[in-house]
Amino acid sequence: METSSSKAKHSNAHWHATVMTLFPDMFPGPLGASILGKALNKGLWGLDTVNIRDFATDNHKTVDDTPYGGGAGMVMKADVVDRAVCHVKATQNPEKILYLSPRGKKIDQKVINSLAELPKIALLCGRYEGIDDRVIQYHGIEEVSLGDFVLCGGELPAMCLIESCVRLIPGVMGDPASHEEESFQNGLLEHPHYTRPLVWQGVQVPEVLTSGNHKEIERWRQHQAETVTQDRRPDLWKQHIDKQNS
Ligand code: SAM
Repeated sequence: METSSSKAKHSNAHWHATVMTLFPDMFPGPLGASILGKALNKGLWGLDTVNIRDFATDNHKTVDDTPYGGGAGMVMKADVVDRAVCHVKATQNPEKILYLSPRGKKIDQKVINSLAELPKIALLCGRYEGIDDRVIQYHGIEEVSLGDFVLCGGELPAMCLIESCVRLIPGVMGDPASHEEESFQNGLLEHPHYTRPLVWQGVQVPEVLTSGNHKEIERWRQHQAETVTQDRRPDLWKQHIDKQNS
């Protein structure tokens, strides 16, 4: 089935995401700007959208219904979502299908690193009160969350997930070494950064950074990374220490 929104772009891309959504016009949105947009145009990564509404079969193109048991809001129908998922499985054969959901496992850099390694993923975006749970269970779809807060839809979390995967694709960002130094990659938050002017509002850049002594700079940065992680994220710090002691 050729849906209104499924335009196969860049089939030879290093990394590809298919987004199932009721709002395909939201894409690529911010993903089409700046470095990511350039990489998309170059074919370094690919994006397809599938409009879930195309899989509704009645004249009104109904995608939702009232919840069993009562309560506020509407629930996206299992049969409609199922047809969209089956279509994506048949046409894209993604390695993984993820449902963006506040009930899911929280996305972190480890999750992103592993998703960025898969050549093809598919993302399912909910709206209203969410999606009939049976279709999520039936297809063994993994639920992932952007954080402990509730948004109106899965599209923005899907964009965040895609952006953080795409920036890991070789060739997308200028210097691949910069990933290794970034927050979370080595279990720590990153050290602070400074640029010209040397003195701003009476505050001078830490002297070591202008010393030219790369060993000392490295030592200072590591110390800063450890201090800031200890202060701001005791949870990460504990994990870091546990890992070092294991
Ligand atoms: N009734 C749901 C609950 O309380 O868990 C919230 C539904 S929310 C209004 C609608 C859709 O937004 C969800 O199906 C999901 O796709 C998306 N969404 C909302 N918050 C999210 C989050 N923190 N992470 C990922 N997706 C989220």
